[in-house]
Order: sequence, then structure tokens, then C-alpha cells
Amino acid sequence: MAEMNAQMKATAGSGPKLTGVSHHSWWRIGVRSALTFAFLMTCGIPLVGFWYWSYSATIQHEFEEVRERHLLLARNLGAALDRYHSDLISAFEVYSTGIAKGHDVTFSRTLFRNLNFRNVCVFEADSGRLKQAFLTQDTPCPDMLAQGRFRAFSKMVDGKGDTIAMSPVAHDPDKTTVICFVRKLDGNLIVGTIGTDYFRSLASRINFGRKGRAAIVDQTGRVLAHPLPDWEKAATDLTKVSAVQRMLAGESGVAQFYSPALKGDMIAGFTGATKAGWGVMVPQPVAELESAGLRVSQSGMVVLLIGLAMAGSFATFFTVLLARPVNEVAAAAQRMSRGETGTRIEPEVLHQPIRELSDLAMSFNHMADQVETAHAEERKLRIDAEQADLSKSRFVAVMSHEIRTPMNGLIGMAQLLRKTTLDPQQKLYTEKLIDSGKGLMNVLNDVLDFSQIEAGYLEIEKERFDPRETVATVCELLKPEAEQNGTELIIQADPALNHKIESDPHRVQQILVNLIGNAVKFTHRGKVTIALGPTETASGSGTGRYRITIKDTGVGIPENAHDLIFRDFAQADSSMRRTFGGTGLGLAICKRLVAALDGEIDFSSRLGVGSEFWFELDINASQKH
Ligand code: ADP
Repeated sequence: MAEMNAQMKATAGSGPKLTGVSHHSWWRIGVRSALTFAFLMTCGIPLVGFWYWSYSATIQHEFEEVRERHLLLARNLGAALDRYHSDLISAFEVYSTGIAKGHDVTFSRTLFRNLNFRNVCVFEADSGRLKQAFLTQDTPCPDMLAQGRFRAFSKMVDGKGDTIAMSPVAHDPDKTTVICFVRKLDGNLIVGTIGTDYFRSLASRINFGRKGRAAIVDQTGRVLAHPLPDWEKAATDLTKVSAVQRMLAGESGVAQFYSPALKGDMIAGFTGATKAGWGVMVPQPVAELESAGLRVSQSGMVVLLIGLAMAGSFATFFTVLLARPVNEVAAAAQRMSRGETGTRIEPEVLHQPIRELSDLAMSFNHMADQVETAHAEERKLRIDAEQADLSKSRFVAVMSHEIRTPMNGLIGMAQLLRKTTLDPQQKLYTEKLIDSGKGLMNVLNDVLDFSQIEAGYLEIEKERFDPRETVATVCELLKPEAEQNGTELIIQADPALNHKIESDPHRVQQILVNLIGNAVKFTHRGKVTIALGPTETASGSGTGRYRITIKDTGVGIPENAHDLIFRDFAQADSSMRRTFGGTGLGLAICKRLVAALDGEIDFSSRLGVGSEFWFELDINASQKH
């Protein structure tokens, strides 16, 4: 009970804590946080999943669409180039044949212009000297073919009859990019040069995204049309690009590669299966596709945020709904643990919508009713028991007091009887009668003291006195018994010290009678030393403690009895009652008396060596009160 009280006191007033439960463990969270977490998780996980799924599905869809669309575009462009190529070959064939035969070919000037011919030059097949020039509206024919070109053209057509050969993309002297058609016919080397404008215009018609534009390469992998104008002008070699390599091998398909020109990953539909060997590629930066996904992901993000905000609002709503009753019950339980009575949960909490919580609140009220009833009963029982105990102590006090009067009479009469003329046997009986009477008187005195203290009749007086005198009186009293036991009584008190204390001299004497009496009783042929004086901490001005120590060289107290001997009716060894008499009340009375004098009492003892009992009192008791 005392422990429970202490625990209750410890928790009282310390805020929202429950007895015996640690509230600061790192893993404990409140209902509010738990619900918010649960709501955010249940909404957040599917929303994040949906968000990621829509993003990746969009990207995948974009890729698939690009594959189909770009491949189709590349094929269409390839078909257009095929037509252009066959138009060029046919026109050049007719034109070159007409020239060789000396026909008038001026009628087809418009056609050739439309086909982008810059000129048609007729050279002597042996020397490369210019014989005739046609269509030289922008670009004149050179009088003499440059050595390199002459050799290259001759190599293209030599040994191939009168077939038409087509050169890779090259640069004219004016730096424009051109393709040459070469035919050897009747000792003439006929060279038709076309510009690459058509390729450019064809490629530029394919526009998508920000940077998506078709690229066209010639049969050697060099640029005919390209999104980068510089590369077009330079007819840059693209054979290192994997898609171009596949085009040159005549393949069609879709490829993903890194484009140094546009500095990024590209996805491209391509076809290399044109009759002329040209390749068409329709690339688009992967980043542009991802940006479509990004747009979807942004919308998804908005949905996600709205979802989370709604989850947060629901969490808050339910938190208020759930946390309030739980907190009310916890607070009521704490008030109850602090000992407040009438602690109940309010009716509006009892009738709130969540059934389990309403049950919890009702159960709490029911429990509180029962606990309070049990407390009231227990309190009543305790008061009854205390009163019964008090009545008993009072009865014992009155009885022992009442018995003492006739006992005194009996002892007095026996003592008078002893002084009369008696035969030896009668004398012995009378002596025994007196001894037994005195023994009974001692017991009665102890019982009277004890029951008086218990019944609250103990009155403490205060006066200044010298404990040395009290000790001397007690020693004088016990001297005969000590001498009988062959025990020496020694008093040690430094006369240089101040020995006056303020306390109750009669109670101090009572304590000394008990302690010195015990020491004498349990010491045979030994020494009992009583040392007394202010303690070391006491100051000269009369404050602090005064200590009296009774040390004997007697039988000592067994270790296992140390905890017992201050208890009521306790003796270290039950055989002692037979040997030494006594009630086992002496030390219990001493303990209560010392406590009543605001002092302290304790002892140390070793079996067969001796015991040392000591008690301390305030030198100046009035200072305390
Ligand atoms: P009692 O009146 O029986 O002596 P006390 O309360 O005075 O009762 O002592 C309780 C018991 O403590 C004694 O019976 C004895 O066993 C032990 N005791 C007390 N003082 C001493 C001592 N000085 N030496 C040995 N035993 C002691």
C-alpha cells in the first residue's frame, strides 16, 4: 500500500503519464500521427504507382508510335527518292543519247531545270577536254576536266558500255554539293551535274517536334540533307552512325543511337533500300518523347498532390474523431491515478459515433465506479481496523495500569512478609514470590509503555539536562546485576565537551535502562562501555546531534536476527526468553521513543563478540520545532 502511495505521488502532477508506462520510447507515436501515416500510405502508394505507371505507359506509347510513324515516313521518302532517281536516269539517258546523235535537245531544258540539273558537259572521252556545254545557266562547264575528276569519272564508266553511272556527293568549284551522272557514248564523256536542293527540300518537309527532321545520305554514307546546315554543306561522312551503317547494308528499320550533331539520344526510322543506294533516316530526340511523358507525369503529380491533400484532410478529420475520446479516457485515468474522485468521461464523448470508442469510455466509467466503491469499502475497513487496534491498545494500557496497583500491593506485602520471622523454607518461598512479582512488574511496565505509545498517550517533555547524569543513574541502578554477572560498567564522556541537551530526560532514561539493561543482561564476565558526547558534526554553539553508544562484549546477535530485533515482541533467539526473561518489547519501545524524540537508533553486532547499540538526539530540540 505504501509503495502504491509512493508510486501515485511520483506520478501525480507530472502531466499526461500513466503509472508504470514509459511514454518516451522512440517507437511510440500518437493516434494523430498513426492515422495520418496510414491514410497517406493507403492513398499515396496507389497514387504514386498510378503516377509512375501513366508516365512509363505514355513514354512506351510514344516510342511505339514513333517507331511506326518514322519507319513509314522513311519508307515514303525512300519511294520519293526512287522516283526522283529514276526520273534523273531516264532524263539523262534521253538527253545524252540526243546529244551523242547530234539531235536538238533544247526542248527539254525546263524538264532538266526541274530535275535540278546545273549543267550537262560533253568532254572528249580520251582527254577530258570540253566539247560542248548545255544548260549552263548558273554553272559553266570547265574547259578541261580536272585530273582527279577525269580519272574518277572514267573509272566509273570504263568497261560498262553506255550505262549511266552516278557519283557520290561531291563539291563543285563553287563549293556547292552536287551529284554527277556520267555516261560514255561515242567517244564522249557526258557529265550531268545536279544540285542537292531536292534532297534538302524533301527532307525539310518532314518536320516534327522541335528538332525532328529527316536526313538523307548518299550511297557512301555522306550527308545529302541534314538538320544541321553545316553538315549539309560539308557533306559530312556519317558512316560511323550505326543506323547509317545499316542503311548502307540496305536494311530498313528503327534504331536508337547517340547523335553527336544534336548532342542527345535519337530514335530513328530508316530505310536504305532505295534504287540509288541513298539512305533516308527520320530521327527524333528521345528527350522530346520523354517530354510528352513529363507532361503526363506533371498532370499525374497534380492528381497525386490532390489525392495526398485529401488523404491528409481525411486523416485530420478521423484523428479528431478518434483521438479526442482516447485522450479523454487517458486524461481521466491520470486524474484517477492522482486520487481525484468522481472522474468520469463526459456524456458527449460517450455518445460519439465510433462504437468501440464509446464502449471504451463506458467501460472506463464502469471501472471508475467499481474502483471508487472498492476504495470506499477499503477505507472504511481500515478505519474500523485502526479503531479496533486503538481500542485494544487503550484496553491493554488501562488493564496493565490497573494491574500494576494490586501488583505493587502484592510485592509490598511480600517484602513486609520477608522482614517477619520465617523459617528458611518460608523465607525461600517469600523470596521467590518477590522475584516473580518484580519480573511480572517489568513485563507490565513494558506492556504499559508499549500500549501507551500505540494508543497515542505518549507525552514528550522538553528540558535541558546532562545525559551523563542520566547514564550514571542508570548504571547505578544496574550495577548490582552487572556485578552479579562479573561485568564491568564503564562510562566514557569527554569532560571538555558541552554535554547539555534539550530533550525528555525520563524518556532518555527509559531508553538507557533498556539498552544498558540488555547489554548487562547478555554480557557475562565482560565489559559494558557507555560512550556519550556530541557528534563530530555538532558545532560548539550547541547545535547538531548528541550520541550515546552502549557497547558490550556479550553474546552478540546472530546475523539472521538483525532485521527482527526492533520489531514488537521479537527476540533473537526464542530460548532467550527462558534464559533471560523479557518480552521482546524493549527495543520496539526504544525505537518508538527515539522516533518521538526526533532521533535515530541503530546497532551492529557479531555473534560471540558483542553488540554496539547507539542512538542520536538533537542537542537543541527546540530548534527543530
Ligand atoms: P527483551 O525485553 O526480551 O530483552 P528487547 O526488545 O530488549 O526484548 O530485545 C530483543 C532481543 O534482542 C533480545 O531478546 C535479545 O535476543 C536481543 N538483544 C538485545 N540487546 C542485546 C545485546 N546487547 N546483546 C545480545 N542480544 C541482545
